Amino acid sequence: MPRNTKIVPADLANLRIIHYPDSRLSRPSDTVALPDESLLPLAERMFELMSAVRGVGLAAPQVGVNLRFFVAGPVAQGDDRRVYVNPVILSAEGRQEEEEGCLSFPGMTCRIKRYGIVTVAAYGLDGQIFQQTGQGLLARLFQHEIDHLDGVLLVNRMGTLARLANRRALKDLEEQFEGKSSA
Ligand SMILES: [Zn+2]
Repeated sequence: MPRNTKIVPADLANLRIIHYPDSRLSRPSDTVALPDESLLPLAERMFELMSAVRGVGLAAPQVGVNLRFFVAGPVAQGDDRRVYVNPVILSAEGRQEEEEGCLSFPGMTCRIKRYGIVTVAAYGLDGQIFQQTGQGLLARLFQHEIDHLDGVLLVNRMGTLARLANRRALKDLEEQFEGKSSA
């Protein structure tokens, strides 16, 4: 418990989605110690930030909190929104290659190869473990968000062609970031 509290910011209203190349995005995150009551308001704030930009998934490192959890959904009709704490991939099969975006790379999408069907196990905020199998977008979301927890970003998954095609967009993000940090 005390371990997370040191990382969870007290001022949630000022929490923002951070953008590439902020170094907090490329750092592997720490395992969450459960139960932790400070995670619920943090998760609520993440849902808020995610919905405001019409995202379907947001990982804690994307708001500068290097803990292993993400929020998601609803992805398909009838889905619930959900919090995934300390998620692991239990099985992955098949293939898909689709355009993928990331809230930390605004304005950029690129084709990424992923598994087609993925089963994850994770804890809910209540400390109960659950399993979920996703295919298509949901399978991609699982892989994308768990990548964030390992510090792996779109830019690390891109092929040479996608990197060339997005050269300008990446450079723009780098320049914006430098502008902000020197301001
Ligand atoms: Zn992302």
